[in-house]
Amino acid sequence: MTYPTQPEASHFIDGAYVEDDSGAAIPVIYPATGETIATLHSATPALVDRALAAARRAQPAWAAMTGTERGRILRRAADIMRARNRELSELETKDTGKPLQETLVADATSGADALEYFGGLAATLSGEHIQMGEDFVYTRREALGVAVGIGAWNYPTQIACWKAAPALACGNTMVFKPSETTPLSALKVAEILLEAGAPPGVFNVVQGYGEVGAQLVEDERVAKVSLTGSVPTGRKVYSAAASGMKSVTMELGGKSPLVIFDDASLEDAVSAAINANFYSTGQVCSNGTRVFVQDGIREAFLKRLSERLKGVKAGDPLDEETNFGPMVSERQREIVEGFIAKGSEEGARLVAGGGRPEGAGFWIEPTVFADVEDDMTIAREEIFGPVMSVFGFATEEEVLERANATIYGLSAGVFTRDLARAHRMVAGLQAGSCWINTYNLTPVEAPFGGMKMSGVGRENGQVAIEHWSQLKTVYVAMGAVEAPF
Ligand code: NDP
Repeated sequence: MTYPTQPEASHFIDGAYVEDDSGAAIPVIYPATGETIATLHSATPALVDRALAAARRAQPAWAAMTGTERGRILRRAADIMRARNRELSELETKDTGKPLQETLVADATSGADALEYFGGLAATLSGEHIQMGEDFVYTRREALGVAVGIGAWNYPTQIACWKAAPALACGNTMVFKPSETTPLSALKVAEILLEAGAPPGVFNVVQGYGEVGAQLVEDERVAKVSLTGSVPTGRKVYSAAASGMKSVTMELGGKSPLVIFDDASLEDAVSAAINANFYSTGQVCSNGTRVFVQDGIREAFLKRLSERLKGVKAGDPLDEETNFGPMVSERQREIVEGFIAKGSEEGARLVAGGGRPEGAGFWIEPTVFADVEDDMTIAREEIFGPVMSVFGFATEEEVLERANATIYGLSAGVFTRDLARAHRMVAGLQAGSCWINTYNLTPVEAPFGGMKMSGVGRENGQVAIEHWSQLKTVYVAMGAVEAPF
């Protein structure tokens, strides 16, 4: 079976597809060819209101179910997603341009992992009991209420599930707004949750541009906002949420360092640098785009990297042999090309790529710059495309300081066979996720999120429960009440 790219309607509210074509048109474009594969419509203010009202109505009964019951629904949704992995992956490939080789293993499967994991945790939610002599205190772990999720365009299914699964496990309901660039898959997540038994209104999807997101964030019925996006958007959303004293989770951008010492396995380090820069055509927030290679192995690293780049297979993303897709949009390609031009202008040495392949679609070559200096634009700003910058370094102290000299703090990687040095390095690195002798593995069991400007809060792992629930403290007196008069 193949899903049609044109969904039944643009929005999913209160358990049903809903359309209102008075909202601005949202063309959905297949990035590999530039063809329009669907047209959706932005939610009108009235539709946003309807989605929030549905979430509000559904929330008390959803929270009143036992964790076991909610968890069973989430785990059933995980099973349905796995059973439909191929159709969901094909849809994700058409929506994002990412090769099917990737989407088959990294998108619906990762979403299903989150539904399964938080489905399992739902039954374990609890407060604590604190004895105070004869009196005692207990805490109740309660839902926050109605939550808003806002997603970026690189991992649409994963982002929807990483937010919905813990939110729903804790008894919240959600209105989710995907990026308007990739609006299709979240609708499938909504369909599947309903089919798995989530009551209407528990998970709703509204489409739209930034202003729909802004309306959601500002609404006083909303208790929590979780955004995956860029730092500038994060600033706006965090400020808007702050004035309503709403809880937030901010998963934002990065400019992460990948540090390779002389004693590292060269082959593994090259593999990690490839994964950390070219997977999903470089459109990954945690990418290790600043690759620091110690002086002794730098030329060997660049030579091996150039050889390995011959293995790039760009082409039809639906062909499972293809391992490199286009950029998500023309706009994004132009942004990345601007950075490539700046890299050359500012004196970095272009050692691979840099060009635009012939033909339709938003293609760009995997690009590597060597001799990059810390103050160059490509060394400081998030590019969000397939552009690797390689830096030299001499000592551990020097590279640690340079690796941390950024406003971002999402991720970092260290390659070395010296265990003490690896642990010393990660202790010093200012990043929410660090990897030793690998890169970009983000299992749902492990907390994920940024330090510094890269974010607030954590997704995944048991700690996510803290970010999707609140405690109520109850003091119980067993004796008489004393008063001064
Ligand atoms: P954007 O910040 O442009 O957009 C993110 C989402 O926010 C979109 O749905 C967008 O809608 C919406 N939005 C924009 N303005 C507002 C507003 N004022 N109020 C509410 N919502 C708003 O990010 P991109 O989609 O371009 O994604 C790329 C960025 O995401 C990169 O910086 C990347 O690092 C980061 N990212 C972070 C991840 C993480 O987990 N840390 C993972 C993946 C990506 P619209 O698109 O319709 O404008």
